This record gives sequence, C-alpha cells and structure tokens, in this order.
Amino acid sequence: MRLPVLCVFLCASLPLVANAGESSHSIHDGHIHYDQDVWETLPPAQAVQMLKDVNINRALVSATPAEGAEMLYRADPEVVIPMLRPYKSWRHRYLWFNDPDLKSYLLEHMARVPYRGFGEFHVFGQDADSIPMEEMIELARERKLVLHPHTDLEGMRIILQKAPDIVVIWAHGGFNVPVETLRDLLDQYPMFYIELSLREGMLDDEQQLTPQWKQFLVDYQSRFLVGMDTYKPSRWADLPELADETRDWLKQLPESAAADISRNNLDRLFPQ
Ligand SMILES: [Zn+2]
Repeated sequence: MRLPVLCVFLCASLPLVANAGESSHSIHDGHIHYDQDVWETLPPAQAVQMLKDVNINRALVSATPAEGAEMLYRADPEVVIPMLRPYKSWRHRYLWFNDPDLKSYLLEHMARVPYRGFGEFHVFGQDADSIPMEEMIELARERKLVLHPHTDLEGMRIILQKAPDIVVIWAHGGFNVPVETLRDLLDQYPMFYIELSLREGMLDDEQQLTPQWKQFLVDYQSRFLVGMDTYKPSRWADLPELADETRDWLKQLPESAAADISRNNLDRLFPQ
C-alpha cells in the first residue's frame, strides 16, 4: 500500500523541484538512506537525479539492506559516498551489536564497493560496549573509515572512549542533548563531528536560529554536517522542502560558516 502513496507524493513533487537548486547553495548531505521501500518507485538513477535537482551534489548514503547504498553508488559514484550499515535487515537492527559474525559480514560487504564508513547504525547505552562493536571500530581504524552512530549520550560516550582517534559523526546531534554537553564533547574529542538532521531546539517559532545555536554553529563551524535523513519514503518526497528549510537557517549564518557546514566539512572528511 505504501508504494502508490509514495508515487503520488513523488509525481506531484517532481515538477516543482526542476529548478529548485539553481539559485541556492549546493548542499553536501551527511544523512541519506536508500532503503528497500523506495527501490521500486524511485529507481537509482531517478533517486540521484532527485538529489541533484535540489542541489544536493554529494551525500553519505546508507541503506537497509546494504545493497541500496551499493545500487546508488553504482548509479553515480561522484555523488554517492557509500556508507555500510551493519544490519542485514530491520530485525537485525536490534541485535547486530551482539552478532559474533558481524566482522565477517562487514568484510564481505566492504569488498563490493569502496565504503567510506560504518553507519548510520543504531545502538543505545551499554549496548555500545560489546566485542562486535570493538571489532567494527578496529576495522574503521585499520581502513581509515568513519563511524556514524545514532545513539544516546551514554552510547556516544562509550563509542568516543573506544574510538577517540577515529572520525565519529553523531547522527542528529543527539536530538535533544544540551548544547553545553555538545561543546564539551567537541572540545574533548577533536575527531568528533555533529550531523544536524532532525536536531531539536535549533530554531524558534519564526524559524530563526536561536542565539545559542547561532553562536554554537559559528564557534564550531568546522565540526558540523547537515542532513536530510530520508529514513522513510515520504522524506524523499519532501526532499525539496527539507533542503529549503536547511538553506533557510544556513542563510542566517556568516557565509564562511554556512559554506563549511553545508559542504566544506563533508568534502574535507570525504575527499573525492
Ligand atoms: Zn537516525
């Protein structure tokens, strides 16, 4: 039932996005998923075109199952930075960090396309303290890959303690973790980055950056990535709107901060 609904969204939104990006800043996106639930209605070439139509010209892409990221990478290796999700399925999402076969799963998939990191992966609290997690971190260390966890503060602290020497990008910036805590982590861990999709508390009722967030983004402008997070089919349909909303707050920043956060930081972390 979901597919025809998506088609209605997409068919309706496609003509609107044709010129959407031309006068706007290019975005290099830190959080795109190409999950199985859109493969049929949005084939790889069309998905890449949708990104380009809203002036998203590079993107970290992961998928459940992982083959989605592979397909999108093959459709356009210049745009797609493939990220390997450690899940075999959605069910596995709640088990993977204790799976003794995790390392062989990762190695097998890493041989297929040049993955640049592990993520976005979900793990919470003490679940982050497991042998398979440590094996994944060791692989990231050996192969110079990044980690992109969706986790809570407890999980984040565990990962950072295990991987202080690895680029770690916190998906959603911890959602509602206080800014002061984020500042402390950024100061303590120089390889730690914050990705801002679905982050709470940044904007006031008039869609203006709060003074606290504006200062925070400027103070640490080299440490943030933006993201649209297409975690469900309707988020693909909403891509033009999501990109516009992101550009609306980027415009409230000094140009150099907006350029770093919208694309330069991602390019520095993931050189072509
Ligand atoms: Zn997430």
